[in-house]
Amino acid sequence: MGGDAAAALKTTHSVWRSVRIGFLLFVLAIAAWSTWYDRLSTTDWDEPLHIGIFPINPEGAGSSDAYIEALSPEDFADIAAFINEEANRHGIAIPNAARVDLFPEVTERPPSSKPGGGMFSNLWWSLKMRLYARRNSRPPGRAPPQVRIFVQYHDPAFSRSVPHSVGLQKGLVGVVHAFAGSDTTASNNVVIAHEILHTLGASDKYDIESLAPLFPAGYADPDRQPKFPQEFAEIMAGRYPIDADSFEMPASLDEVLVGDATAVEIRWVNP
Ligand SMILES: [Zn+2]
Repeated sequence: MGGDAAAALKTTHSVWRSVRIGFLLFVLAIAAWSTWYDRLSTTDWDEPLHIGIFPINPEGAGSSDAYIEALSPEDFADIAAFINEEANRHGIAIPNAARVDLFPEVTERPPSSKPGGGMFSNLWWSLKMRLYARRNSRPPGRAPPQVRIFVQYHDPAFSRSVPHSVGLQKGLVGVVHAFAGSDTTASNNVVIAHEILHTLGASDKYDIESLAPLFPAGYADPDRQPKFPQEFAEIMAGRYPIDADSFEMPASLDEVLVGDATAVEIRWVNP
């Protein structure tokens, strides 16, 4: 290859390199802008936040089918009531901070995540999740919700334990693993509310190893005297302390509050 041809090839390479970097920066800028916009538009609390519940039958079990078939908007009414009451208690002026709608069943299953994957695989998964949510949250004739929660209703006879649920602030999407049992509807809604608050920027407030609520942020009433037992669970701690070493899951959202630290994270209260 002559010197001129090599130089021309080098120039072409460096032009391509600049184009690639430029494109990447453009995509990152769009992603950053959309995350910033989502964050502001979902936590300005000047109009009701629209949340959509999308049921899924993950194993194709008949009992999950029957459970999903029988679901009605009333089954999720305590989620909106919980968010609205707690928003008002923390000083939000509008009576309905959130509106929760039940959407038709989704047949496509969410992309499965690889727990403990590296940064690249996590990024790839979160991109796939955003595309999945976009594809599956726009049934004809319905206004698409701002926050999309995909709830996989497992047959309790199939699986005694279910994978971890997730809620992503980037993309405003959550995937909840729940049980298809009439006696689990109320406790499923605690998990759904927890993941909804994750999408709004709330962080977990329990110890990853022991699952114990963190003090003081994971306590619904950290100033309570005596401190134990706590009467309510903090939503992002997920459990309420009975004493210094034991804690229990709430049976329903009636036993759950939004603590002060969470209220700051979701912009109900100024820090
Ligand atoms: Zn969590």
